[in-house]
Amino acid sequence: MTLPNFVNFSIPDSIRFEGKKLNMAICGLGRYADILANGLEAAQYCQVAGIVTGTATKAEKWKKRFNIRQKNIYNYQNFDEIKNNKDIDLVYVVLPNSMHKDFVIRAAKAGKHVIVEKPMATSVEDCREMINACKKAGIQLAVGYRLHTEPFHLEIKRLGQEKVFGQVRLIESSLGYVSGDPTEWRLRKEMSGGGPLMDIGLYCIQSCRYVSGEEPVSVTAQFGPVTNKKLFSDVEESITWQFEFPSGLVSNSSSSYNCKIDRFFASADEGSFELNPALGYGPYKGKTSQGDLNFPTINQQATQCDEIAKVLLANKQLPVHISGEEGIQDMRILHAIYEAAETGKKVTIPQIHHPL
Ligand code: NDP
Repeated sequence: MTLPNFVNFSIPDSIRFEGKKLNMAICGLGRYADILANGLEAAQYCQVAGIVTGTATKAEKWKKRFNIRQKNIYNYQNFDEIKNNKDIDLVYVVLPNSMHKDFVIRAAKAGKHVIVEKPMATSVEDCREMINACKKAGIQLAVGYRLHTEPFHLEIKRLGQEKVFGQVRLIESSLGYVSGDPTEWRLRKEMSGGGPLMDIGLYCIQSCRYVSGEEPVSVTAQFGPVTNKKLFSDVEESITWQFEFPSGLVSNSSSSYNCKIDRFFASADEGSFELNPALGYGPYKGKTSQGDLNFPTINQQATQCDEIAKVLLANKQLPVHISGEEGIQDMRILHAIYEAAETGKKVTIPQIHHPL
């Protein structure tokens, strides 16, 4: 299937890859790694060549599925030996959030490119250390933002940034699901860095930023009530926040572990556009004030990994909007939202200047 041109991370069609594939090692074989595995089976420019896992049964399963050589299977203790392994070009870190920093830095020190899942880490300081380690090692770092190569999202970004319906005035963007497993690491702040905001609220923040093409200047926020004290003693159960942008655009978003919601709506001077479902795994449905949005449902993980692989195989620079600088900006904003909710005050967000 041919995707719209704008999905491409600026790699000219004239570059021929001639069957070459980027070799990835997947680090942490949990639920999202399983989804990634399905994507990587469908990918054209990258493949699973190695794994890093603490679970022997998973190692066996993945070894068979991807025909992985025994010498490319690591655990968390011997992971640093990957430095000497020429079979691996990139490590994809899919561990709980608090482990991202350590494994990104170890992968960088081993001279491997890295994709780290969102959120990039749990603090701004950790993101900075990760960026510095990757720079020092001369390797490239991407955050696993799967929607930057997704056609419906590229279209709402175009509609907003090119002001197809005029100036966008209001965005509503929310994502929530029901969480009920008390053993889940996401409910332990030490491992997750926070509740639904850190986990999925990040998609609401991202969509507001790339549709407006602007950085929020300030935020107000409110924690929702705790309806299940057993589950939500450490992280928030739900949170709602409001951004103000330099153009006067305002946004309102909620992220929640106690209700299902997955929608994006933008109201502009001469019309509106929306996705519903919008931010989860899809399939997405979209419409504007002029009619339906029709795009193919893609394999998001295959497309994301292929676009990154093409850039790296061509020895080019990854785009800034999936880089560590983007990850650290989201982290600044996430923490500004928490500060606003905790203090009840409007919090100013530091401005950065990179293309969204
Ligand atoms: P899981 O809990 O399903 O998997 C995490 C895996 O990490 C485990 O299966 C385990 O793998 C390994 N691990 C190592 N140490 C620990 C530990 N102390 N506690 C728990 N797991 C450990 O998490 P997810 O796959 O849902 O999430 C992983 C990352 O992916 C998170 O950062 C999350 O935000 C991100 N994510 C991104 C999504 C996206 O759409 N981009 C969607 C879902 C998650 P092993 O047994 O191999 O050692």
